[in-house]
Amino acid sequence: MKELLERKKGLRRKVLIVDDEAIEREMLGDMLSDLYETGYAGNGREALDTIRDESAAISLILLDLYMPKPDGYDLLKIIRGDPALRRIPVIVLTAEKGSEVECLQMGAADFITKPYDAPEVIRARVGRSIELAEDSVIIHETQRDELTGLFNKEFFFEYGKLLDSQNGNTPMDAVIVDINRFRIVNELYGRAYGDMVLKKIGVGIHSLVNKTGGLACRFDSNSFCLYVPHDEKLREKLPDYISQVRETLGGARITVRIGVYSDDGSTDEMERRFDRAKLACRKLRNTYSTGFNFYNSELHEKELYAERLISDIDTALAEGQFRVWFQPKYDISGDKPRIASAEALVRWAHPEFGMISPGIFIPLFEDNGLIHKLDSYVWNNAAAEIKRLRDSYGITLPVSVNVSRVDIFDPRLGDELTEIVTANGITENELLLEITESAYTDDSRQIIDTVSALRERGFRIEMDDFGCGYSSLNMLTSLPLDALKLDMKFIRHITDRPKDSRLVSIMIEIARLLEVPVIAEGVETREQAELLKKMGCDIIQGYYFSKPLPAEGFEALIKTEKGGLLC
Ligand code: C2E
Ligand code: CA
Ligand code: CA
Repeated sequence: MKELLERKKGLRRKVLIVDDEAIEREMLGDMLSDLYETGYAGNGREALDTIRDESAAISLILLDLYMPKPDGYDLLKIIRGDPALRRIPVIVLTAEKGSEVECLQMGAADFITKPYDAPEVIRARVGRSIELAEDSVIIHETQRDELTGLFNKEFFFEYGKLLDSQNGNTPMDAVIVDINRFRIVNELYGRAYGDMVLKKIGVGIHSLVNKTGGLACRFDSNSFCLYVPHDEKLREKLPDYISQVRETLGGARITVRIGVYSDDGSTDEMERRFDRAKLACRKLRNTYSTGFNFYNSELHEKELYAERLISDIDTALAEGQFRVWFQPKYDISGDKPRIASAEALVRWAHPEFGMISPGIFIPLFEDNGLIHKLDSYVWNNAAAEIKRLRDSYGITLPVSVNVSRVDIFDPRLGDELTEIVTANGITENELLLEITESAYTDDSRQIIDTVSALRERGFRIEMDDFGCGYSSLNMLTSLPLDALKLDMKFIRHITDRPKDSRLVSIMIEIARLLEVPVIAEGVETREQAELLKKMGCDIIQGYYFSKPLPAEGFEALIKTEKGGLLC
């Protein structure tokens, strides 16, 4: 590609003249050698050798049809049939006008009859053929994903829409194929292996699209889109298609999730169909096995609900519909548990839908780039609450806030948090930052740098949902953190599943190694609390001590427990 663009910029192109008559070769050479570098071959075999050796350098071939075997016809067939040579345009030379159509059908770019016309005409035809061929290669290459040969995303959508506008009402299905945990595949087996997987899946998709009609593209690093004529039986056929592609992958343990938006006669835009296929795909939560899911009316309802929540966020912020609740974290290392800090958790008192849990709207806002507005609001509220508690009760109670993975990519994050603590009259070490473990595995270097910078400013970092991400021990030792928060799912069965309690003790060991305290979250019973204390856990958060409380309720709790609080 680069090479071609360079050549477009005016380097001399090479033209190969193939004719068994020396006089004819010379005549053509004389006409072209001031504009082009010329090469010559006096028979088919010699021509083929030169073409193979210099295929990258040759811009055009002038080919005499009638030569001893292999003749011009044979050569043309070979060139057109070889993917490495196909891009070279061939202009056929012959005294016989009748073969024109046949040669053009065989893929010749143009035709020049003997005896030759004026040199200007020949030069113009050569020039035009070279330009057309180079343009088409450039277009072809910019339309395609280099690795798989499928369309790239931009052209895919452009062509798809063009197809829709030409095809009128032909119903089309949108299919999205997502390779599960592809990043891990790359990490475990290397990039070359990952590329091989992509190529093979690409080939499978290509052949499917060729069979059924339609288009396909590589959508991003690990997913593909197919836009194919509607097929009533797609649901039944999918398992077959999947196992065909699987076979080509041999023993590779690759699994995919497939989301389908099957045309129901709607006139939706292509992009929207793919959004829906994507949604159906996302709903397949199991990322360890192959599965598919069709967009349906239930998903449609959920989608409408989600859209409604998204469109309501600004009004909700302006009208104070979001409420910040607080859940205390108890230090259990002493004789008597005492409140050590709290976590700020947001709720939405929606005027129509009632109280909505963050588990519903947070992921939605994270996907739509809206989370930052809400998080800022919560951080400010939490900071104000810390100040209020100090002013009213003379206590310093740190409060942790959740920092979304998306927030961490914002270069202004540190400044913003500092501004918030300053504006609210508190200090950096009172606003604790909870960052989920899985955030670190996305793009660890950048995240580690950002989080280290936050820590240098004086913020303390708690790693949330510990045990759910993929941090290696090695990585953990280099992470900037001040506490580990064990994920709730390990606590749930800690008293009745020996495996879970062993896991928790290992995680507590790790925290010891890192010299940071451990917070156990989701503790609901006395048995769990006692066992955790015995295991050496430092801090407990959970319904056993208190559910998250509205600010007033939390203040009431502080008042009753004030005696045991740090002053
Ligand atoms: P998380 O950060 O892991 O928060 C802990 C969740 O566990 C909270 O759910 C809390 O109410 C719940 N929980 C606490 N103790 C117990 C217990 O003993 N048993 C059970 N079953 N659950 C317990 P919540 O408030 O629904 O929040 C869910 C998630 O939403 C949070 O998980 C967090 O990831 C996210 N979230 C909440 N508020 C915010 C926020 O302001 N910003 C961001 N970015 N995310 C938030
Ligand atoms: Ca949290
Ligand atoms: Ca958590």
